[in-house]
Amino acid sequence: MKTQLKNKTISKKDVKLPKKLVYFFGGGKADGNESMKNILGGKGANLAEMAGHPNLRLPVPPGFTIITDVCTYYWANNRKYPPQLKAEVEKNLKKIEELTGKKFGDPKNPLLVSVRSGARKSMPGMMETILNVGLTTKTIPGLIELTNNPRFVWDAYRRLIMMYADVVMEKAAGVEVEDDMGIRKQLDRMLEEKKKEKGVENDTDLTAEDLQELAEKFKVKVKEVLGKEFPDDPIEQLWGAIGAVFASWNGKRAVAYRRIEGIPDDWGTAVNVQTMVFGNMGDDSATGVAFTRNPATGENKFYGEFLTNAQGEDVVAGIRTPYPINEDSKNEHSKNLPTLQKLMPEVYKQLEEIRKKLEKHYRDMLDIEFTIEKGKLYMLQCRVGKRNGFAAVKMALDMLKEKLITKEEAIMRVSPAQLDELLHPILDPKDEATKKPIAKGLPAGPGGACGRIVFTANDAVEWVKKGEKVILVREETNPEDIEGMRAAEGILTARGGMTSHAALVARGWGKCCIVGAGAISIDLKNRKMIVEGKEYKEGDWITLNGTKGNVYEGKIKMLDAGENKLLKDFLALCNKVRKLGVRTNADTPQDSQKARDFGAEGIGLFRIEHMFYGKNSEKPLFILRKMIVSKTYEERVKALNELFPYMKNDIKETLRVMKGLPVTIRLIDPPLHEFVPHSDDKLNALAKELGISYEELKARAESLKEANPMMGHRGVRLGITYPEITEMQVRAIFEASAELIKEGLKIYPEIMIPVVSHQKEVEFIIPIIKKVYDEVIKKTGIKKIDYKIGTMIEIPRACLIANKLAETMEFFSFGTNDLTQMGFGFSRDDSGVFIKDYIDKKILPFDPFQSIDQEGIGEFIEMTVKRGRSTRKDLKIGICGEQGGDPASVEFCHKAGLTYVSCSPFRVPIAILAAAQAEIKSRKNK
Ligand code: PEP
Ligand code: MG
Repeated sequence: MKTQLKNKTISKKDVKLPKKLVYFFGGGKADGNESMKNILGGKGANLAEMAGHPNLRLPVPPGFTIITDVCTYYWANNRKYPPQLKAEVEKNLKKIEELTGKKFGDPKNPLLVSVRSGARKSMPGMMETILNVGLTTKTIPGLIELTNNPRFVWDAYRRLIMMYADVVMEKAAGVEVEDDMGIRKQLDRMLEEKKKEKGVENDTDLTAEDLQELAEKFKVKVKEVLGKEFPDDPIEQLWGAIGAVFASWNGKRAVAYRRIEGIPDDWGTAVNVQTMVFGNMGDDSATGVAFTRNPATGENKFYGEFLTNAQGEDVVAGIRTPYPINEDSKNEHSKNLPTLQKLMPEVYKQLEEIRKKLEKHYRDMLDIEFTIEKGKLYMLQCRVGKRNGFAAVKMALDMLKEKLITKEEAIMRVSPAQLDELLHPILDPKDEATKKPIAKGLPAGPGGACGRIVFTANDAVEWVKKGEKVILVREETNPEDIEGMRAAEGILTARGGMTSHAALVARGWGKCCIVGAGAISIDLKNRKMIVEGKEYKEGDWITLNGTKGNVYEGKIKMLDAGENKLLKDFLALCNKVRKLGVRTNADTPQDSQKARDFGAEGIGLFRIEHMFYGKNSEKPLFILRKMIVSKTYEERVKALNELFPYMKNDIKETLRVMKGLPVTIRLIDPPLHEFVPHSDDKLNALAKELGISYEELKARAESLKEANPMMGHRGVRLGITYPEITEMQVRAIFEASAELIKEGLKIYPEIMIPVVSHQKEVEFIIPIIKKVYDEVIKKTGIKKIDYKIGTMIEIPRACLIANKLAETMEFFSFGTNDLTQMGFGFSRDDSGVFIKDYIDKKILPFDPFQSIDQEGIGEFIEMTVKRGRSTRKDLKIGICGEQGGDPASVEFCHKAGLTYVSCSPFRVPIAILAAAQAEIKSRKNK
């Protein structure tokens, strides 16, 4: 036995407790409200709101919430409670007793309570719940007499033993067990055996006697496995349960979840103790989970699942196929099942009304839990519901149309990561149409995923570390799988419904997920799954369509989701609000078109040298090489003239696509020797073309080598050594522009000079540009070309002399890749080796090549903006480093007063959203 619980690093003196540790709710009143999530946790705050707010006053079973600070105190004080807690709990328990007329531990009319966790931010399934607390050998007979339903009472008791043994006696006690040997699993197996023995399929088919017998056997097993009696005292049960909930805050999976979600360890969880209401009192009782709108599609349709004669855990655990609450909630598995609307029309009507009230009050989509006890409806939970990216955008737009929320709220409702989901790959419908699904499940997470089968969360993590793409296939959804779920491309479960844990978590992340694919049976031990007699082994490829719920054998081609109307409408909304411009980094007509379709307002970086890489680059690259190894001016100009038509054409096609919008074309940047060939046959061909010997060529190539090319002969420095190279590029830009202007297009080229550190460098280049401009105007006979000259800001010295650069430069563009490299002194090509250590060891919070280091590099940016604009008030300033598409960096650029950000085409929508959100946030802060 090992202990898995550690006292975290919260010291005693950090915990200052308020006077009031326990908040009551019930009977149309509440001590707390929705705004008190920090101390009451999400669940507690919303229970208070539902129970006590005059607009709501919903039927919430009375209860109380122990505040989150008590959890923090508990962990800082060797798992002890503050001394005043006991009296407060007792006082509030009394209040429940007064309201319900029942008494905790009373043999005649016993009160039973649920004990649940509830952190500030929802952590679905990560912490513990214990139901039916207060059932003992003394209270059982009373409850049987009261309910006249022995089956129900014994069922409640066996559930209490299962939960309590698992959560309090095993997990909270720090007992670590093998995957399959946990007490819960062992008791589950006993339950299954009992069903087999009785020849029944469902738990509900077991009789009172069966369950009583099972409960007795459970207690023996608990003693045998855990070495302790299951407690028969209600107060001991209550405090055991409270302690276990606090303990679960530092349970393995809760800690893992917090790491992923960035939730601080010192937040702690609240504990909610609430009167039990029973959904398992017979066929006029039920329990369910619902969303006020469909969380997968975003449609404004009430969506939910329920089970009659069941307790809450049954719906989420996927033990029985849940029933749909209405026609709209039917799916593949439930299409023939009765609905709540049919079975209990009155209760359904009441639930519909509550749905409306809640949406109006919260002005958002809510996820609710309810229980029906003998035909009476109770609300057990409500919270703002998780949704995937597609649904988030749809709901935001719908709610705006319904005038439920403002334009600004609609924009703030969608996170950049959610928007990203709309841009994610889907299965190629053509390829998919040729394949037959091997199984069908519920579409719990959108998009497509293709990967190799793994059967445990650990394997998923390990395989992904090795660079594999995996699909995590599990029997049922288990919150302990959290890290594996994160690592996998997609998740597939054989059991579970749309409200199961996997579905909830996957939806929150926008991860492709299929749950309840019933045709699949899993043989975990032998690492295989069987579908209709066919075996699929670990490592076999499968493909998921999470939007439809289809599972396919092998690989299916994936497609980019591309644009859709919803995305366009949402971006149009963002465009109305944002002040910061959004351009794209693109250097092909195709990429430019894509970015333009997404709403890019120009090109912020066209890297002229791209034409020497990749497709169709062979010919121009060969000529470029000739130019590079030229010895004389004449040789070089000859090669440049040969290169000219290629370059002009290349620039022209992108300028054409971007007609009407500015296009920043950057003069050649990389050190020339990067283009020199290495292989002998290429060197030979080049030598032949130049009419020189192989040795001579080799010597010329050698002479170009640099010890530190990133700080070598690159960028503007090339134009200073060889003005003819600049001349040729500028001529290509102007001639391409002139020809398009002649065609009647509006063309706005912006010539950008890279790697500048001194004002004299640009002052040297400007006359070359002007001279070529005059020549082109004369040659083509057009009136003018509307062009600008600007510089990259990517060397710290350039920041310092920004005021001087602005004397001649009409725009700046921050090259934050190089600026970060030179600001930190981290090589952008080699820092990958140590950056991870910097992040792991908390020296840096993130990789500054991905998100602007605001404290350091950001200071350079702010200073440059100030100095540049002190010389030229209307100086246009952009950013074209990688960070330009990172939401936090976009917000920083907005605050720093930049004119635009520029990023790769697929990040344009994200930058548009981030820019709009930055504007809304800054308005709020004013
Ligand atoms: C930069 O340095 O940020 C930049 C955009 O230029 P490159 O990445 O081409 O050096
Ligand atoms: Mg650069």
